[in-house]
Amino acid sequence: MSEALANLLNETRQFPPPAELAANANVTADAYDEAAADRLAFWERQAGRLAWAKQWEQVLDWSKPPFAKWFVGGQLNVAYNCLDRHVEAGRGDKVAIHWEGEPGDTRTITYAELHRLTCQAANALTALGVKAGDRVAIYLPMVPEAAVAMLACARIGATHSVVFGGFSADALTNRIQDATAKVVITADGGYRRGKPSALKPTVDEAVANCPSVEHVLVVRRTGEEVAWSAKDHWWHETVETASTEHAAQPFDAEHPLFILYTSGTTARPKGILHTTGGYLTQTSYTTHAVFDLKPETDVYWCTADIGWVTGHSYIVYGPLSNGATQVMYEGTPDTPHKGRFWEIVDKYQVTILYTAPTLIRTMMKWGEDIPAGFDLSSLRLLGSVGEPINPEAWIWYRQHVGGGRLPIVDTWWQTETGAVMISPLPGVTEAKPGSAMTPLPGVVADVVDDQGQSVPNGGGGYLVLREPWPSMLRTIWGDDNRFIETYWSRFGAGASGGGSGADWIYFAGDGAKKDDDGHIWLLGRVDDVMLVSGHNISTTEVESALVSHPSVAEAAVVGATDPTTGQAIVAFAIPRGSADTAGAAGEQLIADLRNHVAKTLGPIAKPRQIMLVPELPKTRSGKIMRRLLRDVAENRSLGDVTTLQDSSVMDLIASGMSGGKSDED
Ligand code: ATP
Ligand code: MG
Repeated sequence: MSEALANLLNETRQFPPPAELAANANVTADAYDEAAADRLAFWERQAGRLAWAKQWEQVLDWSKPPFAKWFVGGQLNVAYNCLDRHVEAGRGDKVAIHWEGEPGDTRTITYAELHRLTCQAANALTALGVKAGDRVAIYLPMVPEAAVAMLACARIGATHSVVFGGFSADALTNRIQDATAKVVITADGGYRRGKPSALKPTVDEAVANCPSVEHVLVVRRTGEEVAWSAKDHWWHETVETASTEHAAQPFDAEHPLFILYTSGTTARPKGILHTTGGYLTQTSYTTHAVFDLKPETDVYWCTADIGWVTGHSYIVYGPLSNGATQVMYEGTPDTPHKGRFWEIVDKYQVTILYTAPTLIRTMMKWGEDIPAGFDLSSLRLLGSVGEPINPEAWIWYRQHVGGGRLPIVDTWWQTETGAVMISPLPGVTEAKPGSAMTPLPGVVADVVDDQGQSVPNGGGGYLVLREPWPSMLRTIWGDDNRFIETYWSRFGAGASGGGSGADWIYFAGDGAKKDDDGHIWLLGRVDDVMLVSGHNISTTEVESALVSHPSVAEAAVVGATDPTTGQAIVAFAIPRGSADTAGAAGEQLIADLRNHVAKTLGPIAKPRQIMLVPELPKTRSGKIMRRLLRDVAENRSLGDVTTLQDSSVMDLIASGMSGGKSDED
């Protein structure tokens, strides 16, 4: 049998943790041994970091796989864990959120204030008839009310479904209908790219087709004129006038906490269901372990939108359950100038920064002079999530943001996993640029071949999870069959008819390899793997080779049908700001890049064709949508573009393609 996925890229750089961080790390290497010795006892101890109203009777019930129950019989309130217990411990005056609006307005919200606001919102939602188990859709910009709305739902046991504020009325309609939401929480609008961007008209359009919606709560942010109907209530007239007293009632550990739809990079979005006790246990523990968060001294900033799982787990539930002080920013990174992020780091003395490879590569494109213009010396730890981070982008991040000294945690996880699964521990791991390294303590991940057999070191294949984990998805909302089909039917018991005795294996949908030391490298989506002359080549390795050329900031590659090789590699590359790409210089750069890839990875990976483009098609969460580029490369009409960030990008690319240079050997 041929290899499942070729291992072409060889990276030898390695960076040990800074000595001081290692000496004071929240989590040390012992955690791996403890978890290996008794995984369930390990997770039980992490659950003990939270406040429970009723102790669980059983850590894990896995008697009806793939449907898991964690901390069976236990009861807790998520909002109590994120707010009340900090206030009760005397930390009410501690800042929870330093909020920065895009126009430069700011709010400083303490734990006591966040608690009061959440109690008011819980009372207001209750007055509108929302009960435990009801669904509430949240469609807000990045304002503190987004966190308040989520916490208020959690407080009363309502299940929230946050829909990213950039989505269209259709996307919002589908999500409201799928969850049959009773209430929608929105705003008149938010600020994006220097101007107000309306949200309420989109909600009006959606709600007209959503008979389940009884009430719409509207936060006033921009002050722009909005249409008004009998279902609408202003937040400031409803929530901000409600009582600030609210006793949080405990809920079962398996009570539904939220539904969140995946980004839609590969397929129709899936409504992922997360529950209460296991989810909070793992998001809280991983915030403590992976970011080495010290609530007394750190200022943490996750740049994700609250509408994505990263915002749920690492803006709201993880940091707040740990009592962190964090920054929340409303707007875009280039408003009013391309140094806005670095200005914010300096202004709030941010110590921990968690962002996405797409942002790092954009910063590379803009040039290192921009971060160099700001004082970033407060930073002590950097994180990355969302896509594989190309080794060169990792090095750039460490060099130009991290002053050449900071550790980087490359965290692999999914909406489905709820929390980080594979990542360095910053005080323990000698990180390699581009590798997520090892499964966290308590997580059992592996790379397997077509047959579900573990691949040896040096081999490539499919990323799987061999044991259930506390923050795992419980199902796809309303679609148990799709849940089983998508994640549990490729390998293990679910593939072989579910015979007892056989193990259930979770299929993540991502390609991966183990390097010679057994460290894990993510290689992109299984759906995107290219089959060139009988070799399975990952998109990530070819993209990383392109990005390692000094003239390239970002790249996407796809396999296009080819009469001789089956599939041929077609690459789209965004040049760095300084690169000369006009006329003959552009032709020369393309020739250089093809040779550079062949030299780095071997002749098999040499792209047939390279296009220099100004932008790439991305989802609204910033991930490259290769399936659309495949449509372009094969001259097909485009597939589903509803989750595409900016549709004009496709026109730009397609027009370049038709007149494009097919630089055949
Ligand atoms: P859909 O499942 O609808 O296609 P999606 O997979 O983009 O959407 P998310 O749950 O937001 O939705 O993304 C999870 C995916 O992001 C992972 O499966 C993986 O492909 C990628 N990813 C996230 N973090 C990393 C990382 N550190 N390294 C490599 N890939 C990552
Ligand atoms: Mg996915």
